[in-house]
Amino acid sequence: MKLSENISLAQYTTFKIGGKARFFCVVTSEDELVEAVEFAKLPKDSKTHSLPILVLGGGSNMLVSDAGFDGIVIKNEISGIKVEDKYIKDIGDDDLFVSAGAGESWDNLVEYSVRNGLYGIENLSAIPGTVGAAPVQNIGAYGAEAAQTISNVRALDTKMMKFVELSKEDCKFGYRDSIFKHERDLVTKQPRYIITVVSFKLVKNGVLKIDYKDVREYFDKKNITVPTLTDLRRSIIEIRTSKLPDWKEWGTAGSFFKNPSVTVVKFAELKDKYPDLPGFPEIGGETNSSDSSNTTGDMKVSLGWILDKVCDVRGLTVDTASGGKVGTYSSQALVIIARDGATAADVLDFSKELIRRVKDKTGIVIEAEVEWVC
Ligand SMILES: Cc1cc2nc3c(=O)[nH]c(=O)nc-3n(C[C@H](O)[C@H](O)[C@H](O)COP(=O)(O)OP(=O)(O)OC[C@H]3O[C@@H](n4cnc5c(N)ncnc54)[C@H](O)[C@@H]3O)c2cc1C
Repeated sequence: MKLSENISLAQYTTFKIGGKARFFCVVTSEDELVEAVEFAKLPKDSKTHSLPILVLGGGSNMLVSDAGFDGIVIKNEISGIKVEDKYIKDIGDDDLFVSAGAGESWDNLVEYSVRNGLYGIENLSAIPGTVGAAPVQNIGAYGAEAAQTISNVRALDTKMMKFVELSKEDCKFGYRDSIFKHERDLVTKQPRYIITVVSFKLVKNGVLKIDYKDVREYFDKKNITVPTLTDLRRSIIEIRTSKLPDWKEWGTAGSFFKNPSVTVVKFAELKDKYPDLPGFPEIGGETNSSDSSNTTGDMKVSLGWILDKVCDVRGLTVDTASGGKVGTYSSQALVIIARDGATAADVLDFSKELIRRVKDKTGIVIEAEVEWVC
């Protein structure tokens, strides 16, 4: 494990913003990961007893503060994809377990699965980032989420300093949520689990999820009545390209906020005022689960719609004190974009302004989906 010091984190995040990491290392194996965590627990060249740890994948779901990170950043590059055939003739099961290293590109895994005729994660095509981060916020898009296919997660338990296998139930998945977002030592600021491998249960002869409005419209427009797995992946990539900014060009982390949940009473009140407001019953646990009996009683509402139609901020751009620009994307108000040298403080201020406007207009307090790193 090669350790560097004072490394700018802006180059490692899709916002392309952020100060320096005090220590930085890339790990490509579990042994190197153990070495990095041991260093964090007892740094040899420091009087401090332990250092905060930030695990970094593709940096596509974080906003790093301008002051940087006073600890060790561990960039996870443990890669590789392995397939295990669990075909059991007797019960006619045709599931396959596919495992991928946490540092593998998420979209490489999706492309690999689709190319090999494996169903389950195709709706999550073209989401930036790594496999290891997929369980962290239970990535979701176009009617699917990672939790629907994850079978188990291998991780270094940094408290016990041993590798553990966590079942899907252990991961406690929810809407953009899991145990990995919460289990952190409050004193050392070290995450309890660092994921090294994620295993998925994919299906050889699956059913495509094409109910999502944008997807249905895409196939109708193209006159495709019986889409294939490859058609679905292509449709998702094309829809995403038309609706989301290219992070290679813009500073962004995709949707900045989560869609909020409101009570049925509050939803009815909002519907009175805004009859077209989209909302759907919130499902407990996996939010896109087909088990609609498992509703929480609350309603999930479309924040993109509120920002656009109620707050009128879609495409809004502001000049910042630093001389940069921050705004919402022209095709999707949930997405914050930054450019021309905008700072993390600029983005944070802008996000607070959006939070304020949503609260003023609707009474709803919204939450960031993007992680603030400081
Ligand atoms: C243009 C754009 C579009 C996007 N669209 C979507 C979308 O449709 N749906 C969606 O859900 N998200 C979306 N995102 C957000 C982002 O791509 C995902 O959250 C992705 O999973 C983040 O992966 P990453 O490797 O970049 O994680 P990072 O940003 O590096 O890390 C995110 C969090 O996961 C932790 N983490 C990372 N790797 C590990 C590990 N191995 N072990 C433990 N913790 C780890 C980090 O410490 C951090 O807390 C989008 C982002 C962009 C820029």
